[in-house]
Amino acid sequence: MATSILIIDDSPTVRERIVRTLREFALFDDYREAADGIDGFKALLESRADLVICDLEMPRMDGFRFITMLQTRDELKDIPVIMLTGRGDQELKVRGLEQGACDYVTKPFDPGELVARVRVQLKIKALQDALKKSNELLRELSYTDPLTRLYNRRYFMEALAKEFQRTGRKKGTLSLALLDIDHFKAINDTHGHQQGDAVLTALATVIQGELRSYDIVARYGGEEFIALFPDTSPAEGIAVAERLRASVERMVFPPPLELLRVTVSLGVAAYPAGGIAAVDDLIREADAALYRAKNGGRNRVVAMAGTAQHVE
Ligand code: GH3
Ligand code: MG
Ligand code: MG
Ligand code: MG
Repeated sequence: MATSILIIDDSPTVRERIVRTLREFALFDDYREAADGIDGFKALLESRADLVICDLEMPRMDGFRFITMLQTRDELKDIPVIMLTGRGDQELKVRGLEQGACDYVTKPFDPGELVARVRVQLKIKALQDALKKSNELLRELSYTDPLTRLYNRRYFMEALAKEFQRTGRKKGTLSLALLDIDHFKAINDTHGHQQGDAVLTALATVIQGELRSYDIVARYGGEEFIALFPDTSPAEGIAVAERLRASVERMVFPPPLELLRVTVSLGVAAYPAGGIAAVDDLIREADAALYRAKNGGRNRVVAMAGTAQHVE
């Protein structure tokens, strides 16, 4: 990606000298200039930079105001700023650093020192970016099931707790479905554990594809999945569960599983409903309904007692 620097100073001579110095070391692809804080800020809003070198004393908007403004924008506040100060301006240097500048260079500047300080800031920025990225990755991993790439149980339970509370507050309705593969053990026994894993992954894709973007589906355990349907009445919840059941039944797998037919059983619970005061009650009801679906012959949807009867 092209790297860019923005140099803000009211003196064209100073700007020109900085650009010339940095160009010699080919530290950036793009060198942009602005004559004061306002123009500098506008330039960054138009297109971000990897580093800013900013004079402190300028007409219209000075360096301090500029640094303060940067902090107010999420997309700009991580851009490192090196300020330019006069040699004796001890107090200004301290104030600038306190307000968010990363470093300072005194004017008239020594080219070698300027380049060295710019390099340090670029290195720190690169390390920070890498750290941010790996933190995001860790976060993603912490709530993802590694086999199916669906959310894991931990993430689901957190999301469910929030949605349950929200539903109670807004006097809305939500539905929840527990899904368990029928005779999955036989699939493992016949085709091997690895093919069993492939079936789980394919199922996850089909289930995800059937749901709306605001539904949340997770792998609840080995061959069990759980889905939350926010703002969904019991009747709608049963209809979605039935859609899931039917789409799994239609699945065709690639060889060597081309003859395999997979079915699932689902238990559906809804909130609010009698006897459901907490998330655990909701899951217990869905689990009990799932148990009845299994006992009733599998490949079916059963709703918790009190809602509509199961759909064949
Ligand atoms: P039912 O219709 O009553 O649900 O029968 P079932 O065979 O699906 O149920 P059971 O609970 O007896 O077996 C579930 C099996 O799922 C047992 C376990 O070995 C298998 N299993 C659990 N997790 C995984 C996994 O990650 N990969 C594979 N391949 N198999 C798994
Ligand atoms: Mg100035
Ligand atoms: Mg099971
Ligand atoms: Mg099963």
